[in-house]
Amino acid sequence: MSHFPFGFNFDNSYQKLPKNFYSIESVQNFKAPKNIIFNESLAKELHLNINGIKDIDCLFYDQKYLPQKFDFIAQAYAGHQFGHFTMLGDGRAVLFGEHLIHNERFDIHLKGYGLTEYGRRGDGKAALGPMLREYLISEAMFYLAIPTTRSLSVITTGDVVHREEIFPAAILTRVAKSHIRVGSFQFAAALNDINLLKQYTDYCINRHFPELNTTKNKYEAFLHAVIKRQALLIAQWMSVGFIHGVMNTDNMAISGETIDYGPCAFMNYYHPETVFSSIDQHGRYAYKNQPIIGEWNLTRFAESLIPLLHADIEQAKTIALEILESYAQEFQQNWGSLMLKKIGINSPSIHSKSLIDDLLALMQKHQADFTNTFYYLYETNHLKKELTADPSFKNWWDKLLVYLEKENKSIQEIMHETRKINPAVIARNHLVENALKTAVAGDLKPFTELLAALEDPFNPPKNQAFMSPPDFTFDQSYKTFCGT
Ligand code: AMP
Ligand code: MG
Repeated sequence: MSHFPFGFNFDNSYQKLPKNFYSIESVQNFKAPKNIIFNESLAKELHLNINGIKDIDCLFYDQKYLPQKFDFIAQAYAGHQFGHFTMLGDGRAVLFGEHLIHNERFDIHLKGYGLTEYGRRGDGKAALGPMLREYLISEAMFYLAIPTTRSLSVITTGDVVHREEIFPAAILTRVAKSHIRVGSFQFAAALNDINLLKQYTDYCINRHFPELNTTKNKYEAFLHAVIKRQALLIAQWMSVGFIHGVMNTDNMAISGETIDYGPCAFMNYYHPETVFSSIDQHGRYAYKNQPIIGEWNLTRFAESLIPLLHADIEQAKTIALEILESYAQEFQQNWGSLMLKKIGINSPSIHSKSLIDDLLALMQKHQADFTNTFYYLYETNHLKKELTADPSFKNWWDKLLVYLEKENKSIQEIMHETRKINPAVIARNHLVENALKTAVAGDLKPFTELLAALEDPFNPPKNQAFMSPPDFTFDQSYKTFCGT
């Protein structure tokens, strides 16, 4: 264990894995590190001691704070990107260290730190706008109670990056349960050495699912456990209208946390085919496809584990397919219960799911705002007029009332309960863009105001405008980008 200032309690277990899985990267010197935003509440949760530290700007970026013998690493991984298999790895990020608090382990990861062994043709850098975007949206997800990596800080390095324009170069300090991805297993499997695959899998089980060590078929149980977490995570995304945007297998974490906020966005007007990513021309990662892509990615994960499931490959495949079948059921169950809770039904019956399908169809027909329709469901005067005027909506409402009778609660009580899970504030595209544009230009106020509202998403914000969707045409032309 290395001794660090600021309360970091590093125990770098990943470096004990065989060298195939990472590369050692050199420590960089930055021209003029400057703090842009620092997450004090997360720092407290991590038991970091930053009180009275003035040069927070260079907290993790000044060599004077590093012990003499200290290695950063970049992790190797592979991945299917838009369906095509590629060898990848952290191209512009390093693992600063694994911070241990009471046996809980957190990767402290620096994204935009510099070009690594796996960086290929990239420049190893990140621009300020996209790093602030990840900060904002990952924190928004956390406060929506959706598993996610978190953001501890964004700094600018004093350098610039060349994209379509020149931007300040930035580093995001990301905090995650780990950065082990489906793609990490694809990498491990591609090494074609069962001992390495086994060692890697055992490491991951010990780190994320230690309780499985005592089960009879621990690799089967591991596959099942990862499937279970993803089936829940993707259902949670769907329940708030979140579109990840680049669900490549290298962007799916084994821990079940949402990872890699590139072209992600929240949907305003409900349409299942919504897609914002500039490079996703065929809508592979559109809102409605996320559950299916989740299954596709987990199938790649299961393929990587085949050698560990059974010595006979055909039997191993049968086992994998059987376990994969649990995904659809798990997802449907999570999705159904989350969506029904959003409309006030806590005790679902077999038929109640049609209530959700019918409501979504009506929302699509009338271009209703996803977030506000659920938020205002019990204050119908705030709902979109075209929606409430539709006779089918009135029929739907009567049907809902029949189901609600089983809940045995007053409408007021039901509304109160739904408000605990239906956010008033989400990171709406137009607000995010405005906050980032002004932040990059030097004014952080709109960013911090929006962040404050996103940190308390279930209560109406001080600024009512945060609850309004943009003009319908905004989302139609809105594009998000990755790898920036
Ligand atoms: P992403 O689209 O952010 O998930 O990144 C896909 C892959 O490209 C990962 O291996 C990244 O490390 C790598 N990458 C993205 N941007 C850069 C960059 N500017 N320089 C080097 N590698 C990069
Ligand atoms: Mg990625």
